[in-house]
Amino acid sequence: MRKPIIAGNWKMNKTISEAEQLIDEIKNQKLNESVEAVLCVPYLSLAKAKEMTKYTNINIGAQNMHWEESGAFTGEVSPTMLNEVQVDYVIIGHSERRQYFNETDETVNKKVLSAIYHGLAPIICVGETLEQREENIHTSLVAEQIKAAFSNVSNEDATKTVVAYEPIWAIGTGKTASSEQAEEMCALIRNTIKALYGKETAESIRIQYGGSVKPGNVSELMSMENIDGALVGGASLKSSDFVKLINY
Ligand code: PEP
Repeated sequence: MRKPIIAGNWKMNKTISEAEQLIDEIKNQKLNESVEAVLCVPYLSLAKAKEMTKYTNINIGAQNMHWEESGAFTGEVSPTMLNEVQVDYVIIGHSERRQYFNETDETVNKKVLSAIYHGLAPIICVGETLEQREENIHTSLVAEQIKAAFSNVSNEDATKTVVAYEPIWAIGTGKTASSEQAEEMCALIRNTIKALYGKETAESIRIQYGGSVKPGNVSELMSMENIDGALVGGASLKSSDFVKLINY
């Protein structure tokens, strides 16, 4: 049985005081304990978020990291820095990072290996653009993204990861992939992992769908066999919506 995981990706939203308020609103509501809740907040709010969720079931994630522990990388944040604030998860290879910050399958793999080495669970993002779907290359592209992200990752370490399938055309656009489209791609991802590591590992890894998930569509998506959770942008910024997603 895979425990469902709903993660909010706040992106570049919320100052520290705003984050404090939002976390306060979320943690003071009744949350379904059989669903894992994760808040991926901006770096500046990580320490506060960790402190505020100490006696709750809410886990905290960063939205990115560098793969090196330290060095001349102006503006970057390292895995050891995330360790010191006891961050649980780190989003790796979000499409916005691939698109605006030139992240490639190669740097995604470096970050995945480094995150695992430092005890941070990576949420590995993959997904295609609308053009790639229209060209009908989305399945091979996503399979390649998975193979690249897991390059040199051992079987045991692979079980520590979460994968997020996020079709770029559905992120922040209000256009959700249909539950069938999302399921088809999540099944493809599980099969690709199965070919790399075998059935047991493939069955243990949680695969999220991301792209305009909201209270109105979450239960249908979550009813799909290969969808174990959601990575949520917009709807994670409003406590009442995020709580509805956790309690889907
Ligand atoms: C995301 O940022 O990963 C995302 C899926 O955003 P949204 O839910 O706003 O589409």
